[in-house]
Amino acid sequence: MRLARLRIADRIAHGVVEGEVVRLLQGTFFEAPAPTGEEVDLGIGRLLAPVIPSKVIGVGRNYADHARELGNEVPEEPLLFLKPSTSVIGPEDPIPLPDVSERVEHEAELAVVIGRLCRRVPEEEAPKYILGYTCGNDVTARDLQRADDQWTRAKGFDGFGPLGPWIETDLDPVDLGVECRVNGEVRQSGRTSQLTFTPDSLVSYVSRVMTLLPGDVILTGTPAGVGPLEAGDEVEVELEGIGVLRNPVVSG
Ligand code: MG
Repeated sequence: MRLARLRIADRIAHGVVEGEVVRLLQGTFFEAPAPTGEEVDLGIGRLLAPVIPSKVIGVGRNYADHARELGNEVPEEPLLFLKPSTSVIGPEDPIPLPDVSERVEHEAELAVVIGRLCRRVPEEEAPKYILGYTCGNDVTARDLQRADDQWTRAKGFDGFGPLGPWIETDLDPVDLGVECRVNGEVRQSGRTSQLTFTPDSLVSYVSRVMTLLPGDVILTGTPAGVGPLEAGDEVEVELEGIGVLRNPVVSG
């Protein structure tokens, strides 16, 4: 199933995308939602970020080739950081470039969406707590990341967490293509089979640190090829089996 949040006129709806049609649901994705019977054309609504997470957990250096391109070792345990919920934007929302950074970069990532409250979960039980997967862009002010001892500022600006276009619930995440294009040019191309720590192991690991709530998102890390974004660019993150997350880049 493809679960989408969308704005239709002055209301926000949840639905299941089937081709060009969205079958609307009562309530959110987390309460065993029933169909309302209402259907709308996908083109009528405006897709929103598929969830509003209480927190977004990032994982640094989870692809060896990306760790190396920034001159870092692959960590022995997942390297976690937080992005604020206010960084989250949806498909086609603009990514604003903050004026305090001269180097903002894209990071195409598989995003895990949590479906149930999750605390101290063993890895083998992690799938029960995962609602599905979407595309994420872990937008990063690289100069500020290098300047600061930690990454809150570099990763935390409003608009630095694009998610979407929907949540794919029926997907094996172990070997999916991950691609980033800027103005149609391929910048990043990897596969989730290259992940050092798998989605299931990350859910387990993070849940031993903090309780994960329905709608929380884990960004699983980015393959090699990160590069700059300029005002006027259009950046696309594509995950095989999910879809394309597209955002314009604007000056802040
Ligand atoms: Mg990242």
